[in-house]
This record gives sequence, C-alpha cells and structure tokens, in this order.
Amino acid sequence: MLKGQVAIVTGASRGIGKGIAIKLAEQGMKLSVIGSSEDIHKSADDIKRKGFADVLPIQADISNESQVKEVVERTLQEYKQIDLLVNNAGVGFFKQVDETTLEEWKKVFEVNVQGVFLGSKSVLPYMKEQKSGTIITISSDVARYTIPNGSAYTATKYAVQGFSGSLAQEVRKYGIRVGTINPGMVDTYFAESEQGLEEKKDWLKVEDIANAVVYMASAPKHMMIDEIVLHPFVQDYPIA
Ligand code: NAP
Repeated sequence: MLKGQVAIVTGASRGIGKGIAIKLAEQGMKLSVIGSSEDIHKSADDIKRKGFADVLPIQADISNESQVKEVVERTLQEYKQIDLLVNNAGVGFFKQVDETTLEEWKKVFEVNVQGVFLGSKSVLPYMKEQKSGTIITISSDVARYTIPNGSAYTATKYAVQGFSGSLAQEVRKYGIRVGTINPGMVDTYFAESEQGLEEKKDWLKVEDIANAVVYMASAPKHMMIDEIVLHPFVQDYPIA
C-alpha cells in the first residue's frame, strides 16, 4: 500500500527518525529525509547503501519557516507528490524549573512545537488538493502524564498532542489522517545520550517505533488510528 508513495521524515540524521526512514524505504516509499546538521547526508548515504535509491537528504531546521517551505518545494520537484509527513525531529533536556533558562525553554518549544506546526502547515495545501495524506507526529508518553525535571519537554509534548487532535478534526473532510505515536523510553541519542548503552538494552528499539509508523500509515482508508502508545516492559509508568 505504501509502495511508490512519498514521505518526508524529519529528524532522520539518527535515532528514531533514521529508523523510520529505513523502514519506510523497505516498504517501497520514496523519501525526503530532514536534519539540521550535515549528518543528514551521511544518514541518507547509509540508507542508500542498503539498496534504496529514492532518498533525498535536505539539511533544514524545522523551526525555520522558509527552510521548511523549501523542504516541501524540493520534495515536490523531486517526486511530484507528498503522501506522508512524519514530524519526528525533537530535542529534550531534563532540569528543574528554576534551573531552566529562557533560551532552553524557547529552543525546545521551537523545535518540538513550532517545528510540528510548520511542517504540518506546509504540506497541507498539497494534501488537501490531492484529498489524501497522513501526518504522524512522534510525540511521547509524557504527552499524557507528567514527570519531575521534565517541565519544558513535557509541556511541548502536551502541546503537540492538542495540536494534532485539533488538526485531525479540521482536515478529516479532506481525507487527511492525523495521528500521534507516543513512545516511552527508546534507545537513541536523545538528550545527549548514546545509542546501544548496556543500561538501555531493554528499552524500546527504533524499529518498534518505525513499525508503529508503518501500521498507522498503511491502515485501510476507512480506518483512523488516533494514537499509539508504547512502552518498554521494564518501564514503570502510570496507567490511567
Ligand atoms: P535523537 O537520537 O537525538 O534524534 C533527534 C533527531 O532530530 C536528529 O536526527 C536531529 O538531527 C533532529 N533534529 C533536532 N533538531 C532539529 C531541527 N531543529 N531541525 C531538524 N532536525 C532536527 O532523538 P530521538 O530519540 O530519535 O528523538 C526523536 C523523537 O522521538 C523526538 O521528537 C523525541 O521527543 C521523541 N521521543 C523520544 C524518546 C526516547 O526515549 N528517545 C521517547 C519518546 C519520544 P540533526 O542533529 O541533524 O538536527
């Protein structure tokens, strides 16, 4: 079902985004992969080396409106359509409120919230015209409950949860589906960590999140998956 369709994956330089890009390429999708650093080119080369030709790396900051518009324009030039946007790029830090600087607060909101707004807004005109499309945001389990030292990060994830719900209701009449995937702890480079550390061996793998993206994006047309929440078995978390 996804074969031949076109996806934009943000934050695909490493971690979850790179895992999603690989999985979507395996499904036969054509990809634009986005990251703010030069690492996005290395990541695209890694994916191409796995035998997937249609991988367009674009170095862009998803909190910058003109750069996001360029991502959409270059994707349309290359592939002529956009079927799936995965808003994955995100940053996080974990500090007490009185230790958090205004710059840190602004940065996490710019990437995690403004980036999701700008990415979604930029693809909507094309999806509305083609009367189809899917927008998936990689949010977090902390979009549903709070954690100490996570005020800024948690606030961004509550924000994108609200954004996605409203957007889903707005664009349903155009055949556009909007959902969130809310993982618990995933073994990545997140918050200046390293992937593959012994203490994270039982955490979710990037492939687990990528499989959820494929499931959500390839759901039959009569079906809407609003949200997928997943945790590693070892994580202790509140259940509503
Ligand atoms: P990661 O390994 O640190 O990867 C973050 C990605 O985002 C990188 O590819 C980075 O590439 C990109 N990025 C950061 N700022 C950007 C910007 N301004 N513009 C474009 N790209 C940007 O972290 P991750 O764990 O894969 O996180 C991916 C998403 O999953 C985030 O939204 C995060 O909140 C969410 N999440 C993670 C976990 C977890 O436990 N790891 C749990 C729940 C949710 P560049 O360096 O090239 O910009």
